[in-house]
Amino acid sequence: MSPSSFDFASWPPALTPEQQAILVQKATTRALATGLLYLPPGYPPDSPPPQAAIHAPLSLFPAPFPRESFEQAQDEIMGAEKGVGRVDDFIGQLWRGWKAMRDSGKISQHLHLGLFRSDYLYHIPETGDTSLKQVEFNTISVSFGCLSQRIAELHRHLLLATSYFELSPYLKPDNLPKNDTIAGLAKGLAAGHVAYVSSGGSPSSMILFVVQPGERNVFDQRWLEYELLETHGIHSIRQTFEDLLTSSSVDASSSILLISPSGVEISVVYYRSGYMPNEYPSQEYYDTRFRLEESRAIKCPTIALQLAGGKKVQEVLGKPGVVERFLPGVPQARVNDLRNMFMDMWGLDEGGVSSTGDEPAGTRKAREEHPTLVLKPQREGGGNNVYKDDIPAFLGSLPAHEREAWIAMRLIEVPKKVGGWLVRAGNLDYASAGGEERAVQAEVVSELGIFGWSLFGGGEVEKEDEVGWLVRTKGKDSNEGGVATGFSVLDSVLMV
Ligand code: ADP
Ligand code: MG
Ligand code: MG
Repeated sequence: MSPSSFDFASWPPALTPEQQAILVQKATTRALATGLLYLPPGYPPDSPPPQAAIHAPLSLFPAPFPRESFEQAQDEIMGAEKGVGRVDDFIGQLWRGWKAMRDSGKISQHLHLGLFRSDYLYHIPETGDTSLKQVEFNTISVSFGCLSQRIAELHRHLLLATSYFELSPYLKPDNLPKNDTIAGLAKGLAAGHVAYVSSGGSPSSMILFVVQPGERNVFDQRWLEYELLETHGIHSIRQTFEDLLTSSSVDASSSILLISPSGVEISVVYYRSGYMPNEYPSQEYYDTRFRLEESRAIKCPTIALQLAGGKKVQEVLGKPGVVERFLPGVPQARVNDLRNMFMDMWGLDEGGVSSTGDEPAGTRKAREEHPTLVLKPQREGGGNNVYKDDIPAFLGSLPAHEREAWIAMRLIEVPKKVGGWLVRAGNLDYASAGGEERAVQAEVVSELGIFGWSLFGGGEVEKEDEVGWLVRTKGKDSNEGGVATGFSVLDSVLMV
């Protein structure tokens, strides 16, 4: 079946109230039984032992993606990873930028470990070919790998248990791809640990998870911790930046990273934090990040690799002739396929300021073409972009020297009128919750993420793998919103 023949506007099939109730009951119960969970709202930042959890927001149906596009995205992440792995000289420029902030020039660990997620939306333009287009490439704190495996299992279970009431010929086991992200991502972290130990590190060293205070998405992290211990025999510890201000130290002669009070040696520093400015409220926090950076421990990611995931880098890679520089030996046809997944992007500072003081061509073009654009700064974590009609006023207020931090990107034209059933946990007080509606039908947009990891350094890729995928679905009325904050839900792939 050709991709264009699937009628997105007819998705999902209609449910009777009885069918809906059955699916909601089965889905929420299974989510709770299998750790598809968040800590409840209001969980305090000092991380007391949890007593209860709520199911993560979830979709009742998997989300349709044309089969060839899905398979292509899985292939392409390997290309993209090789690109990131080989951008050493490019990273070098970024590297020098932050190196000036350091008081020591010593780098004692040359390997970088990346757990990546490349995100895509399905693009159906008014004219021209439909295809998946890349939204962004994430190199730090990529989340929902573990929960995405659980939601894929959940949809498979609903299919087994109910056949989805035979409502659609597309809802069959062959169309639900496997998703072994937990084992795959843990393998990446384990590869970092093994590389550390085999270059002289202690076999009893541990992986450090650097986490945010009051994190509610802990189960997504814990599944990795359990897999590391149970399959690879590797212990982990969890610390916030605030903990690390005082608990972390680097041995002056060996550069070994140690965590007090017991003096645990750290093999891999795995960041599930550290990507937002408010996580560094004072210089001490930056100093702590640099302390970990200078140690022998393998960082997932290094600061350089974190910077390589920036939108500016994505924009530069999209320029003619650039991506091939980082993919030597890759056939031009594959490079073209990769490039075909990029949307048009440019810097707001492009063209420079004219002698008469006019604004740069990049800013002018963004103003003129604003109805089809999104502007993005060098930030992660959602909620930072400026869309369409908000763009002219925003450009009017943007100080000239900040233009270079922003890129303009053509909006991906997502399938129209696709519906979804979104289910979230409600009031936990059953006595007062009454007839609370927890499943809502909405017009939605689904974003696909493909996970991969790479251990590389000195221009060589030591080990890498593509490991699984994620779908997040959100109500179309909101421009964006992370799963944890807005009303968006975890979802899975239905190949159509
Ligand atoms: P972040 O690093 O904050 O997640 P993203 O680049 O992923 O930044 O942008 C956040 C959200 O904005 C995406 O999840 C997507 O919903 C929307 N978005 C970003 N770029 C585009 C685009 N080119 N077309 C349509 N939507 C986009
Ligand atoms: Mg991002
Ligand atoms: Mg994103």
